Amino acid sequence: MARRTQKKPNSRIIIGVVFILAAAALLTAVVIYTSRGQKSTPASGASNGQGYEAMTYAMNTLVTQKIYGAGAETAALEINKMLARWENRFSMFSKDGDIARINAAAGLGGADVDPQTTALLQHALALSAQSGGAFAITIAPLTSAWGITTDTPRVVPEAELAGLMPLVNDSAVTIQGNHVTLPEAGMGIDLGGIAKGAVCTEVKNMYNQLNISSALISIGGNIYAHGTQPDGTPFTLGFRDPAGDETSYIASFAMADAVIAVSGGYERYFEQDGTRYIHIIDPRTGRPAQSDIASVGVIHEDGATADFYSTTLYVLGLGKTLAYMRSGGQAIVLDMHNTLYVSDSLRDSFALRPGMESTYMIEYIAAQ
Ligand code: ADP
Ligand code: MG
Repeated sequence: MARRTQKKPNSRIIIGVVFILAAAALLTAVVIYTSRGQKSTPASGASNGQGYEAMTYAMNTLVTQKIYGAGAETAALEINKMLARWENRFSMFSKDGDIARINAAAGLGGADVDPQTTALLQHALALSAQSGGAFAITIAPLTSAWGITTDTPRVVPEAELAGLMPLVNDSAVTIQGNHVTLPEAGMGIDLGGIAKGAVCTEVKNMYNQLNISSALISIGGNIYAHGTQPDGTPFTLGFRDPAGDETSYIASFAMADAVIAVSGGYERYFEQDGTRYIHIIDPRTGRPAQSDIASVGVIHEDGATADFYSTTLYVLGLGKTLAYMRSGGQAIVLDMHNTLYVSDSLRDSFALRPGMESTYMIEYIAAQ
């Protein structure tokens, strides 16, 4: 049997949204950086008079910032340090972080963690309870078995899935004070579907603390716009072309004081025997999600909420996503047939990139 494993060299990097206004040099640097396959780099940046640009590698992805005004360089470094602390605390792969210790203590009585961890877990559990079973922070047994974002992905046999699926159960997580318990051995928490959005709240607090009132940060393509551009107008962002590289976008839109989190099946996946296995798992089947959505970006002032919905709506599919938009949720969705469904509230600023008009259709979805 021919086994073909195809993994993009930059498969750990997802850029769902791009900074259109970022200097070309920054975008070029991103490509050079990823093609070298480096996993970490010290913060780097250059002031170009139009905002200070910095990049680093954190939370298993590329992080870029563009910060305006006095103190930008210090702020960039402080944010990079904060992201490293956050990664250690919330990654299931770090040795001594809170999530790693909770997972190691599954079935063994649980672990004491930082109050910030319990707060994030409570927030994530409250959100996942609204997902209709599409989102689960206890997805770790399945994400680990498939290993899609690791160097050793594999197709998990049905019998093994049947044994793992009962371990995915958010309602079994108990939090008492600062003590978190997973009742059964083999259970585990994976915050990959929410952590990059959630950290945007910390980023916001830190920018505020350092008197930064205008900045953009991209964490693996999830973008937080802190305030507006220095002239008071919203930032212009690009919605990425799933078929293109990290710098190509198909449409632009304006955003201020909000996070856009993007989920898609086009960056982190592996292929075997002609089937593509993506990194978002449907807890209801135990298998990589098979969505009728190419890419979904959810805009929300709360980053955790945006990130939660992007993953959840990708799993639930186009019908439920349009229902979310009709109920007032703000989103940009690309289906498999080059139709972009865009919340009507974005209509004033949303525009296809020149030259894309013959390829893509736009349908605006009004809240009802
Ligand atoms: P990305 O992290 O690539 O920006 P997402 O926000 O959609 O994209 O998160 C995908 C990640 O979430 C996976 O890599 C995995 O860690 C985790 N995950 C996968 N499936 C689920 C799910 N059904 N519910 C919650 N988290 C999930
Ligand atoms: Mg998400």
